[in-house]
Amino acid sequence: MSYKIEVSGLRKSFGALAVLRDINLKVEPGQVVALIGPSGSGKSTLLRCLNLLVMPDGGRIRIGKDSFAFGDGSKLPATREQARFRSNTGMVFQHFNLFPHMTVVQNVMEGPVSVKALPKPQAEALAGKLLAKVGLSDKVDVFPNKLSGGQKQRVAIARALAMEPEVMLFDEATSALDPELVGEVLGVMRDLAAEGMTMIIVTHEIGFAREVADRVVFMRDGVIVEEGPAREIIGQPKQEATRIFLSHFH
Ligand code: ADP
Ligand code: MG
Repeated sequence: MSYKIEVSGLRKSFGALAVLRDINLKVEPGQVVALIGPSGSGKSTLLRCLNLLVMPDGGRIRIGKDSFAFGDGSKLPATREQARFRSNTGMVFQHFNLFPHMTVVQNVMEGPVSVKALPKPQAEALAGKLLAKVGLSDKVDVFPNKLSGGQKQRVAIARALAMEPEVMLFDEATSALDPELVGEVLGVMRDLAAEGMTMIIVTHEIGFAREVADRVVFMRDGVIVEEGPAREIIGQPKQEATRIFLSHFH
């Protein structure tokens, strides 16, 4: 079986603080992994390493055909290779970071045009298709400040998809939203999962994780404490730390 994502021996420290300690993780093509754990356990750092927004100190990451080794004498990847590696992943953050001076469609076209040199008419067609997919065909020409948080986040998802990434990484994509807007964003994520997109989702939506994720990975203090099928980990966690964490959601 060839995995879509393979992380082995991944390590990262910030000064004296070891934030990731020997992380090993394999994700099959089309699999949805929910990454859960207390605040400060290293979830965001792990996602950011997959996107090279944070440079790991050691270990190895493979995504699709691209792989890098870090530390122990391995050379840091050149900027151009980093950019290529980064394009394997589409990342969606808690805060949407849309370009305020661009319309919705311009926000989605920007990456394909400026990074991939896609001709504008093609980029616009692609953006239109993706905005339809996230249910925003009627917002193509408006500016982000006219959108609700849920709509902004759906634009952010369309923008990430426009780069045609191999995997999508979501870091608490619904945590900043008013409760009534969470469902529309989870709905888009659920559709992507059903279409076979490989995804790692950091989330506090435990019900969503149980329902949509194939696997749940529980992290604490920079290590993976427990992982397995979503229903097993959420329904019958084996580790005390997982049980305590999940008890906060009941
Ligand atoms: P989580 O997403 O699980 O809440 P993070 O990966 O954001 O955890 O953070 C893990 C730990 O690393 C925290 O203690 C955090 O303060 C620390 N940390 C994260 N990013 C940095 C950074 N750039 N510099 C220093 N410390 C950081
Ligand atoms: Mg985080």
